[in-house]
Amino acid sequence: MSDNANVPRFVCDRCRIPVTGFLVRVPLPAPTLSRVPPLELDLAARADARRPLPRMPRGAYAHELRYDRDLLRDIAILGPDAEYPLPPLGFKIHPDEASALVTHTHRDDWACCLGCCGPSGHNGPNLACPACGTEVATLEADCYTQNEVTLSPAAVALSFLDD
Ligand SMILES: [Zn+2]
Repeated sequence: MSDNANVPRFVCDRCRIPVTGFLVRVPLPAPTLSRVPPLELDLAARADARRPLPRMPRGAYAHELRYDRDLLRDIAILGPDAEYPLPPLGFKIHPDEASALVTHTHRDDWACCLGCCGPSGHNGPNLACPACGTEVATLEADCYTQNEVTLSPAAVALSFLDD
């Protein structure tokens, strides 16, 4: 038994390839807000500076399997004043924890990657399993979205095995 015996990682539900490292479950953090970039930055650097900081810490995952109105109220993405679509439901991870996934390219349309400062993730899953190509997650990294990856509950499984 290794030190990871009680800490799971996510695998592709179709081909069982690991799609994350080992992650500790934490309570879902509150959403983060877009930032106003300093004017002296050039355009490319401004896009990075405008993107919200990731709400998920590295090495962790959290459940968002239904919307928590108390958590979302402050950023006005629920209710009649909502400006933007809700973030996808699923298992939330830091974008760096999804480095094994590939940007999927097999869908005919390119709407999956639309966005201004990064992919909005509002057109469905845009990250795929590197082994079988199944769409398993959605990266949101635009200036008006969260900065996170949402693993699709229907496409991944938790594995406590370490081989
Ligand atoms: Zn797969």
